[in-house]
Amino acid sequence: MINEDVSFYIKLAKTKQNFRRVKLVSKYTTGIVLFVIILEAIFFLLNNGEWDGMLPATIWPYFLFMGFNAFCYLYTKNKGAQVTQNNYKKIEWFIGLYVFSLASFGVIISLADQSGYNYLMIYTLIMLVSCSFFVLNKIQILIPITIAGLVLVGGLYVLQGNTEQFRSQLLYLMALFPVTYFLSRAFYFTFRHTVNIQARLKSEVEMTKKLSEELREANKKLAIQASIDPLTNLYNRRAINEYIEQLEQRTLKHPYLLSAVVLDIDYFKLYNDTYGHTSGDEVLKKIGAVLLQVAKKHKVFIARWGGEEFTVLMDEQSERNVQQICEEIIHEIHSLQLEHRASLVDRVVTVSMGAHTQIAKTPGDILACIEQADAALYNVKQNGRNNYEHRIIA
Ligand code: GH3
Ligand code: MG
Ligand code: MG
Repeated sequence: MINEDVSFYIKLAKTKQNFRRVKLVSKYTTGIVLFVIILEAIFFLLNNGEWDGMLPATIWPYFLFMGFNAFCYLYTKNKGAQVTQNNYKKIEWFIGLYVFSLASFGVIISLADQSGYNYLMIYTLIMLVSCSFFVLNKIQILIPITIAGLVLVGGLYVLQGNTEQFRSQLLYLMALFPVTYFLSRAFYFTFRHTVNIQARLKSEVEMTKKLSEELREANKKLAIQASIDPLTNLYNRRAINEYIEQLEQRTLKHPYLLSAVVLDIDYFKLYNDTYGHTSGDEVLKKIGAVLLQVAKKHKVFIARWGGEEFTVLMDEQSERNVQQICEEIIHEIHSLQLEHRASLVDRVVTVSMGAHTQIAKTPGDILACIEQADAALYNVKQNGRNNYEHRIIA
């Protein structure tokens, strides 16, 4: 997996270099070709032209061609001419248009000129410049070189007739055609390769994004799972510890009213002994569901402390509210009417609760408050169970 990734990036780096080289070569070939055309024009002027202070009419198409070539070069350069997955279709068509225009210029120049070999020369140059300057797909290279070639052949035939010179020119053109075509295909594949690699890179980036998103989700789930008791769906001991830590931190900012309730099922060992452990688990589940409802309704923190003991922690709740919550829990659990023949207080499952309310001023007050609630619970257990005791220290 890792090896494959590394080789992919090496390949990508190499392709990028190749692509840059293609552009570089094109720049210089274009320059050289233009230079050759200028030399040729000057040579033609010096040998054939009658200098009368005016340039001959045939020289203008050369300049036009150079101007257009320069324009196209600068245009693509200014636009960045950076081939990406998004713009390559547009670039391809722009290039197609460009080559078609060049080929047309070539034909105009050739037909305006009188010397037969000049036409072929220009056609050759245009095709070589075009396919080295830009990258073309099959259609974009085939259509312009075919049209330009046919027009050129027709023009030459009209000018010269079926002479020896014409036939040799035709042969030369026919040889030039596949050379131009395959040269252009070579550039095309370099280009396509870049686009493909970019597409793959993009999809890999997207895949990585998706994976990390999934990983984040999984982590979130895991974090939730880690703080939930699977049997009762209440917070577990670990969550209590975290919450206690939060409450401790809060005392450092300002004092606040804190209440702790500790709940214990009455004679639960006897329940297990009578109905079995599995039935005992069912009771824990049902009591857990009741407590979850209470937690949601009163927006208080309720957790399974361990075994058959639960803890409620709440801040800024009035004395009345705490008592109401305790009464509600006892009532709701009693309403479940879970048969408990062995219980010494009732015919159904009951609970005992100890509650304690105090001002939390220091971090140590949180555990102290829970201990006080536990002491109240012990008192309830001593005095008959199925009840609650609420102690308040103002
Ligand atoms: P008391 O009224 O004094 O609280 O009596 P008790 O029997 O409830 O108290 P004791 O602490 O003696 O027993 C608690 C029992 O709770 C012991 C254990 O079998 C049971 N218990 C603890 N955790 C679980 C559990 O996850 N599932 C089941 N089924 N029973 C559990
Ligand atoms: Mg117990
Ligand atoms: Mg118990």
